[in-house]
Amino acid sequence: MKKQSENVKDRPRTSGRDFKQYKYFRPKSKEELIRIINDFQKDLTIIAGGTDLLVANYQKLYEIKNWLDLNLLNEFKNIKMFDDKVEIGSMVTHQRLSKLDQIKELFPVLHQAAADVGSPQIRSRGTIGGNIVTSSPAGDLLPPLLIYDAQLKIISGEGSRVVDANEFFTGPKKNILKEGEILEKIIIPLKEEVYRGAWIKVGKRKALIISSISLALNLSIDRSNLIKKARICIGSAAPVPLRIKTAEQAILKKELTEINIEEIAQIVSEEISPIDDIRGTAKYRRQVALNITRKALSEVTNQ
Ligand SMILES: Cc1cc2nc3c(=O)[nH]c(=O)nc-3n(C[C@H](O)[C@H](O)[C@H](O)COP(=O)(O)OP(=O)(O)OC[C@H]3O[C@@H](n4cnc5c(N)ncnc54)[C@H](O)[C@@H]3O)c2cc1C
Repeated sequence: MKKQSENVKDRPRTSGRDFKQYKYFRPKSKEELIRIINDFQKDLTIIAGGTDLLVANYQKLYEIKNWLDLNLLNEFKNIKMFDDKVEIGSMVTHQRLSKLDQIKELFPVLHQAAADVGSPQIRSRGTIGGNIVTSSPAGDLLPPLLIYDAQLKIISGEGSRVVDANEFFTGPKKNILKEGEILEKIIIPLKEEVYRGAWIKVGKRKALIISSISLALNLSIDRSNLIKKARICIGSAAPVPLRIKTAEQAILKKELTEINIEEIAQIVSEEISPIDDIRGTAKYRRQVALNITRKALSEVTNQ
């Protein structure tokens, strides 16, 4: 391993470089943000909490030209409740999501996943928008957003578009966002149904750990006690957070007590496509997927 002093010595020097030609933008309104994007589209690095960006780019920080810091955009920090939806600004931190009673009540799986992110320091800086745009298969908020059928509002100099969170992720750390596009908010629909949910995160230790595998589950029950909608999403077990649609279909129109837990757990374990990496082997992940699906379904059927 390299000694730290050698690392520092090898690092390209930033001093002496003419930084005057580069800018640091901190817009206070959406209009100002759009103006900056239009002027500097190609040479902007967007920063929210910085907890992913600064770690991933530490060796390359000297290459960054103009910064676009979203931290003064108060309108991106709002959580707005409507009769039929909740809108969460992309700059809302994990800390806020994990402390708000309304989020706990309406989206308990998202609430719990936010509380499981990193450490208090990471949760108070890291944002929901940063988690989404980093698009890591291990991003803890992604499976919960998929089971709640979240939509993402993306803005740019050319206008805006709303996309299904399901269609946003295209591969490990890849998504459909184009240059000059900003994630403004997350929209989660509200339905008049009874929900039962579960969140399980498995890692090498309890705190400050990236998921080896995670599971988010949400079942909605209609008036005749039948399962009207089922969502099961697994994180860290495929290039993108993965909805297991065959398992979802197999649960539909049943009463909770009629769910064949073993059958569903087998389907989940077979349909994921895990890899071997530092956080576990593919074989380990398939076995854990089986166990956590059993556990989550037992939890919801006993709730
Ligand atoms: C010690 C440590 C522990 C961690 N633990 C966890 C964990 O347990 N679970 C987990 O899921 N993650 C974890 N993370 C990763 C990280 O904290 C989260 O993904 C966090 O949500 C990132 O948000 P941020 O605001 O810091 O993003 P940033 O680092 O500011 O940005 C991340 C990326 O998104 C882009 N971006 C940010 N916001 C927007 C926007 N609104 N529009 C367009 N692009 C945008 C940035 O340009 C950058 O490419 C950990 C990180 C560290 C350092």
